[in-house]
Amino acid sequence: MKYQPVIGLEVHVQLLTDSKIFCGCSTKFGSEPNTQTCPVCLGLPGALPVLNKKVVEFAIKAGLSTNCSITQRSIFARKNYFYPDLPKGYQISQFENPICQRGWLDIAVDGGELKRIGITRIHMEEDAGKLVHGELSGSSDGSGVDLNRACTPLLEVVSEPDLRSSDEAVIYLKRLHQIVTWLGICDGNMEEGSFRCDANVSVMPVGSDTLGTRAEIKNINSFKFVKQAIEYEIQRQIDQIEDGGKVVQETRLFDPNSGTTRSMRSKEEAHDYRYFPDPDLVPLVISDEWVERSRQALPELPEQRRQRFMDELGLPLYDAEVLTANRALADYFEAGIAAYSNAKAVANWIMGEITRALNDSGTAIEACPITPGELAALLKLIDNGTISGKMAKIVFDEMWCSGKTPQAIVEDKGLVQLSDSNAIENIIDEIMAANAGQVNEYRGGKEKVFGFFVGQVMKASRGRANPSVVNELLLDKLRG
Ligand code: ADP
Ligand code: MG
Ligand code: ZN
Repeated sequence: MKYQPVIGLEVHVQLLTDSKIFCGCSTKFGSEPNTQTCPVCLGLPGALPVLNKKVVEFAIKAGLSTNCSITQRSIFARKNYFYPDLPKGYQISQFENPICQRGWLDIAVDGGELKRIGITRIHMEEDAGKLVHGELSGSSDGSGVDLNRACTPLLEVVSEPDLRSSDEAVIYLKRLHQIVTWLGICDGNMEEGSFRCDANVSVMPVGSDTLGTRAEIKNINSFKFVKQAIEYEIQRQIDQIEDGGKVVQETRLFDPNSGTTRSMRSKEEAHDYRYFPDPDLVPLVISDEWVERSRQALPELPEQRRQRFMDELGLPLYDAEVLTANRALADYFEAGIAAYSNAKAVANWIMGEITRALNDSGTAIEACPITPGELAALLKLIDNGTISGKMAKIVFDEMWCSGKTPQAIVEDKGLVQLSDSNAIENIIDEIMAANAGQVNEYRGGKEKVFGFFVGQVMKASRGRANPSVVNELLLDKLRG
């Protein structure tokens, strides 16, 4: 039998607020355990949560950017479970009436075709604390609880089971990652867990309209692992069914070392969490004006910007896509074309030399030592014939290392291109005189020697001769 995989993702997005979701404690990463805590995030009895407005603003931005409706009256709920890193015995989350509902993202699947992936909901919630074991806990065989992370604001973005392959899941996840980092509401650092996902996977016979039983794979923290985990899980479920068994609904863990998933616990049903509205928090009322203000304040999103780069600047899809990979890169490009209007040339240099140099040195575009204005100045020097394209690469490397302007480098190093015909003619005359044999060969029909002469002229001018002037004059002279 042939099987159709079905996947739905639940993505946790850690929000870039300075303070926690229900108290004023700092969200800074990496401090001494329990130094960023207060009665609220320690879960002490009687301490009352106060909602951080910034979290709501970020949630609205995320919702509007993923085509969701913003709920006018949304409600916080208690999700009850026991774990040592959750001192209250419940997590404040949203269940009924989450802040964002019924959105979608269009993803480009095979061959560039667009596919719409439904977003069921986006809700706000608090993160739990963290268990630390061994030395870090203060005793070599002990364990401790660090509540610095408790109450850190998260958005959970839940997709419909619309994804049909591991590749589609990764494309969707990358789109979502691009949007939240673009909005500046999440740092997107997957290794540190600021953007992590649970993958729900099931299989059904091809053509069936009843979804199979799903397994949920928890806390996957890289795009590569998402792909591996889903692929392993699909095959495991198919094997299970083919062997006459049944897939059971459960929570599984992915092990990056073996590339496999293993059972963690049987899945709780929603009623096991005994969700109920949190009596400490009033319903959150969001006015139409607030939503409208937020919509007006949204930046141009990656998709719109990509389209504009194609429509207004005439860039090919590939370039437009690369240049909108993140907002800083797109901003760099736009600053470049503001100073030098040949968009394709600026695009080529950013996708070529700049990207290569950034990668080689492990530098982010935000810290690029060459400003867009300096890059533009370099391109102008090529454009007006001061230097050749080949020389420009040398100047570029020097700009990167020394931070000098291209003009200064060209002057210091005497790299100015030689375009003066008289000077070039003199060189050509000398070379032709010294190589009479080759001149005769050329005139006898052996056109290949032309390249030899070009090489000689470039060598004699130490690479500075303008190649197109050289070509023109050489042709002229050789033909006699
Ligand atoms: P939870 O119990 O995890 O809180 P939900 O019912 O809200 O769950 O579903 C969570 C995720 O599981 C959603 O992303 C949804 O698309 C996905 N999902 C639901 N049913 C299936 C299925 N049969 N196969 C794959 N994914 C599924
Ligand atoms: Mg879940
Ligand atoms: Zn606190």
